[in-house]
Amino acid sequence: MRLVILGPPGAGKGTQAARLAQHYGVPAISTGDIFRSNIAAGTELGAQVQEIVDAGGYVPDEITNTMVRERLAQPDAEGGFLLDGFPRTRAQVDELDTILAQWGQAVDVVAELTVDPDELVARLVRRAHTDGRSDDNEDVIRRRQKVYEEQTAPLTDVYGSRGLLVRVEGVGGVDEVTARLVSALDAHFAGPRP
Ligand code: AMP
Repeated sequence: MRLVILGPPGAGKGTQAARLAQHYGVPAISTGDIFRSNIAAGTELGAQVQEIVDAGGYVPDEITNTMVRERLAQPDAEGGFLLDGFPRTRAQVDELDTILAQWGQAVDVVAELTVDPDELVARLVRRAHTDGRSDDNEDVIRRRQKVYEEQTAPLTDVYGSRGLLVRVEGVGGVDEVTARLVSALDAHFAGPRP
């Protein structure tokens, strides 16, 4: 299964991505995690992106696309994957299509996690206290939400028009949301394509 999970910062994408990946037996690939581990390890890529990530902006497409291209070429992604945090821009959608097309593949389904915006800020402020992420203070959170609304939310229309979008409410307990996602995804695969 080639799955993309979309949703605003704080919607619980990372948590749900790990659970879904395990459920469907595919690797979860998080561009945010790859950037953060490069920053922590002090790599050249990390140095290039640190300021942008800390300020809540988007890393330029060329950098992100190259990184994803390399990651998807790894053997563990051959049979499927779950992308968390990519694509985030229209250019990244096109790049993902191009990468997959060279192997005769395409995205199978896109799950969108929806959560009320005030609830999102409250969650992210809580996460700032527990995880100590450098991009989780309130100003940066609002910036990340704005960037998401402007650049990433429109991608739901792109995938919606392809009949690939499955929308799931990201509220309630973690197990409850996972169960909702799995049943919506399974129903998508079982049902007729719109
Ligand atoms: P995330 O963990 O998905 O919230 O990502 C954390 C940060 O990494 C984002 O705020 C961006 O600065 C950067 N980032 C992650 N994925 C992408 C992407 N697909 N395009 C551009 N920047 C990204």
